[in-house]
Amino acid sequence: MRRRFKLGPLSIDPVTCDDALRAVEDLVSRGEGGAVFTPNVDHIMIADENPRMQEAYARASLSLADGMPVLWASRLLGEPLPEKVSGSDFVPLLLERAAEHGWRVYFLGGAPGVAELARDRLLERLPSLQVVGIDVSHIGADDPPDQWRPLVERIRATRPHLVFVALGAPKQEIWIHTVREDLRPAVLLAVGGSLDFVAGTIARAPRWMSRSGLEWLFRLSREPRRLWRRYLLRDPKFAVLLGRALIARAREVAGSPGQRR
Ligand code: UDP
Repeated sequence: MRRRFKLGPLSIDPVTCDDALRAVEDLVSRGEGGAVFTPNVDHIMIADENPRMQEAYARASLSLADGMPVLWASRLLGEPLPEKVSGSDFVPLLLERAAEHGWRVYFLGGAPGVAELARDRLLERLPSLQVVGIDVSHIGADDPPDQWRPLVERIRATRPHLVFVALGAPKQEIWIHTVREDLRPAVLLAVGGSLDFVAGTIARAPRWMSRSGLEWLFRLSREPRRLWRRYLLRDPKFAVLLGRALIARAREVAGSPGQRR
């Protein structure tokens, strides 16, 4: 496989959606656990100021390009990623594979009732899907890991192949990083709002908006009070980070032996 594309503090795997599905099948069949993340502009900006998010990402088994801006950045920096593999597209496809393979899946997080609704909707379409547990635990970002022990034990008892963790970034990535060894061989996935989308409690952006890199605008219009800081204060700084990366790349190209006279 091609090397990971580095964008600021995070790295992203150059894979298609099909590759990513196969990679998760591989992780499950190897039985050594794993962590799957879907970096977007917001994750990059959070990680820029959060070493624990960086540590979690440094050990990711699979890191998928969630969003057009990440894809555009890869093209501008001369290491084009093959396609956008956003969590909200990937999660339903992976759940189909889970049903086909008879994998046990566990849902953690989301607002009360959302994971149950997601399960019920999924079972209409995928009656063989085994949802072996649902937990809406109140996990604090700075909780001492010991506090998570009962939850980890509850999850372990159900022997899941996949655990979908919907706690928002950076909490979900840091939580996964902290407990992944204890939950082996389960593969843990940070899925953000994907359970809300599966449940239908939050609408997805129309396809044209998603393809034009405008998904953020749609989400902002739906949940302005929760998301304005993310999209209007934190994420615009991505332009500065990208600018720095472009300058560094231009210097690297200018300094490479083939370019010197
Ligand atoms: N959430 C949660 N516990 C928390 C914080 C968030 O269960 O302490 C859930 C929230 O209900 C939502 C998801 O985590 O379903 C976060 O979604 P967000 O929009 O932040 O993720 P994105 O899809 O943008 O990555």
